[in-house]
This record gives sequence, C-alpha cells and structure tokens, in this order.
Amino acid sequence: MGKGSKKKTVKNPLIALIITVALIAMVFYLLENIRNAVPPEQIAVEPEQTVPEPPVKAPSRPGKKSIVQKIYSAPVITAPPQVKPLLPVTPEVKQPPPTIPQIKQPLPNFPPVKKPLPLIQPVKPAQKKSITAGTVAIIIDDMGANLEEVHQLMAIGVPLTFSIIPGMAHGREVAATAHSYRYEVLAHIPMEPKDYPARRLEQNGLLLAMSDAEIEKRTAADLMRVPYAVGANNHMGSSFTESTEKMRLVLRVLKDNGLFFIDSKTSADSVGETVSAQMGVKTASRNVFIDNKQDVAAIKIQLEELAKTARRRGSAIGIGHPHPATIKALAEALPKLQAGGIRFVFASELVR
Ligand SMILES: [Zn+2]
Repeated sequence: MGKGSKKKTVKNPLIALIITVALIAMVFYLLENIRNAVPPEQIAVEPEQTVPEPPVKAPSRPGKKSIVQKIYSAPVITAPPQVKPLLPVTPEVKQPPPTIPQIKQPLPNFPPVKKPLPLIQPVKPAQKKSITAGTVAIIIDDMGANLEEVHQLMAIGVPLTFSIIPGMAHGREVAATAHSYRYEVLAHIPMEPKDYPARRLEQNGLLLAMSDAEIEKRTAADLMRVPYAVGANNHMGSSFTESTEKMRLVLRVLKDNGLFFIDSKTSADSVGETVSAQMGVKTASRNVFIDNKQDVAAIKIQLEELAKTARRRGSAIGIGHPHPATIKALAEALPKLQAGGIRFVFASELVR
C-alpha cells in the first residue's frame, strides 16, 4: 500500500509540473506573438481613428500630427536665436504689395513695419526687473558704407537701431539686411550744420537756403532711398534743426509717411522734438552720444552714463557710430548691462 501510494504521489506532481511548464511556455509564446503582431499604441489609436465617420476622421489625423510636430519644433527654433539674429520671415515677404519704385534689388519693397517683433531680447531672465531698471535704445548713425558693420553689430545679439544715410553705397543692402533680421531701420537725413560749408554735407542734404519745395522733395527722395525705414533722425543739422519753419517741412513729409522723428540734438536749441510733438509726429530726443571719443574705455563710460540716465528717467536713447572701437565696446558692455537689468529696445519703442 505504502509503495503504491508513494508511486502515485510521485507520478502526479511530475505530470502537474510538466503541464505547468507547458502552460507557462504557451503563455509566453502567445504574449510574444501578440506583441509582435500589434504594437500597443496602435491598439489604442485605431479605435479612436475609426470610430467617427471615416471621411471626417482622415484629415483630423494629419492635423494631430502637425500639432505634435509644432510642439516639438517650437522650442528647437526659439531657443537658439539668442546667438544669431533671427532669420528672415517669409510671411512678411508675401504680405503687402509694393511701393515699388525705390528698389532695384532682388528684394521686394514693403511699407515699413511699424512694430518689429521684439524677438531678439525676450529670452533674458533679466527682463522682468528691467522694466523698472531702465530701457535703452541705441541708434547707430551713419550706416550704409558696407555690410560688415551691420553684421558685426547684429552679432552682438542686442536690439540696435540702424540709421542709414540715404544714398550711401550700400544703404539699401544694409537696410534690407537689418530688416530681414528684424532690426529696425531709420533714415539718417543730412541737414545743414553750423559750420557749413566749411564742413561738407552729403549731396542730397537739406540746406536752410533751399526753397520749401526743394526741401520737401529732397526729404521724400531721402526716405525713398532707405527702404524699411520706420523713422528718421538728423545727420548733423546743428543749424537746420533750429529752424521751426524748415523743420516743419521735413516733419510734414515724415508724418505723411507714418514715420517718427528722433532728434539727434546736434544743437541744444534744436526744435525737432517740440515741433514734432506739435505736429503729431511721434518723437524723442537723444540723451547720450556714446562715441564722441573713439576709444573703447571712453565709450564704455558713456554706455554706463546712458544706463544711468535710463535708470533715472525710465528710458534713454544713445547714439553711436559704426567705428571699430564702438563695435568692440558695445559687444563687451551691452551683455553686461543687460544682465544688470537694462532692457534694450528699438527706437520706435521710445517715441511718443
Ligand atoms: Zn550722422
């Protein structure tokens, strides 16, 4: 009896073990097959996609995909523009039709962009406190001689406003380049200085002796030579800007074209800002010339002065020139000022 029962109990567990092993193997085999045959995501997705009417659902799927793509691509594109100025934006190219006459170049010509997107500055964490810490616009005058200057200045990665002398050899290219990288462009209109004619003036400059019609004509022609200009400031003009009568003529043309005027204040007695305000032309005046002395250390001191003025007044406008010393000083000083809470903007943000 004992022997028999022993044999039975040995035999049963063995069979049970074999069956168990076989079952486990089968389960694994089935799981493996299911996994290979249908990815889990598809099981989840497919019902979603087929439940509603097929014709409607079909287009909604690519839509979903493109949203996902956008979510992925957005951070990739917006994170780095810090380093380099922004790429040209194609939508703008399609936008409004021509004021064609001015441009011979491949680039089409557009009405000036009033509010350039502040794409260059918003990444800095300093931005929040900067609202109370001072806003600065720096205008670089006398642009248009070459393209190197504008590229070097844009490489700093801080908003700068480029004021181009109408008729300069590369004025249009500089304007188009700056604009395509979302920088702001002004027309730098030459006006009679106190020491004229001992000091020469650009050939299309404005002289007090000119007729009203001639001044208007030249102003309009100057604006035509600087595509994308959203405003103007005076080149020299210590004498011309003291004349209310003559400045009215210039400002009328600016107003008709929707442009603002920044008074470079080459004369303490300039009426530029006052007359602009009277005529309803948006305006502001320069606070600090940053590079009267072409020396890096001296320019940095001026930039500190500019920042100080901005902190005191809320905002300030500086004017400089594309001298090598200026470019070097700006490249070294602006990121530090930015980190210290100064917010750099385009000139259009400081006119009122
Ligand atoms: Zn100038």
